[in-house]
Amino acid sequence: MPIHEKSLIRPENLVEHEHLVIEGVDVSGHWSTFIEGRSITDYNEAMQEEIAALPGGENIHRCWQCGSCTNACTVNAVNPEFNPRYWIYLIRLGMEEELLRDKDIIWQCVSCNKCTYACPRDVVPEAVMKATAHWLELKGHTPKSNSTIFDEGFASQVIKTGKIEDGLVLRDYFKATGQSLTQPWLVAMVTGLIKRFPVTYLMKLGIATVFPDKTRKWSKSRAAITEYVEECEAANRKALGLDAKGTH
Ligand code: SF4
Ligand code: SF4
Repeated sequence: MPIHEKSLIRPENLVEHEHLVIEGVDVSGHWSTFIEGRSITDYNEAMQEEIAALPGGENIHRCWQCGSCTNACTVNAVNPEFNPRYWIYLIRLGMEEELLRDKDIIWQCVSCNKCTYACPRDVVPEAVMKATAHWLELKGHTPKSNSTIFDEGFASQVIKTGKIEDGLVLRDYFKATGQSLTQPWLVAMVTGLIKRFPVTYLMKLGIATVFPDKTRKWSKSRAAITEYVEECEAANRKALGLDAKGTH
């Protein structure tokens, strides 16, 4: 019988007999494949609750494991190891060590939300993936993902000035992630812009990158948003039992 989702089984737990004959039938090799039993004792019983307490994780308890999210997933189509259904299963059971085996690919969700539209239980798997990636970062299991670094730079510029300068967002993102500003796609885009737009317009764009414009009378809004962000960060830490420094 074929083993479904064989990629989810640890290779060391898949056993084959090189030479095996049962009642005169040769079942050597993959015909005799079986999954070795194992005992799990290191459950993290708080894991589902912690992820559910983060923004986006609220509906994780609704999942009934139908697999529609994984079936619809854009990233799963190119990498079968990217499996939202499986991760939700692990989280709900508290199998932290198993989840950590995939910690370096969970952040690869591209937020296309195909899973969200496919889900019959309104789990919002896209948001659960975000909450899970956030949980991994807050717990110190992974460094900040590029996606988080981009979000933080974008949000900090909005909070600071009440506006977004695309050039500045890109410049800060490349700097924070140690990437060169001369990305081939960026060079091609700028070259295209130079050909299509008047020089005065491009000069304005360049100046705005160095001296970003600000929304008038923004200070009160900035103070209110900053207070709200701090409240959210404190709530996240509380959900995970962390202190103000992010430690237990
Ligand atoms: S939002 Fe993420 S998890 Fe959902 S289908 Fe898209 S890539 Fe997959
Ligand atoms: S589609 Fe929804 S209910 Fe089905 S496995 Fe995915 S999250 Fe769970």
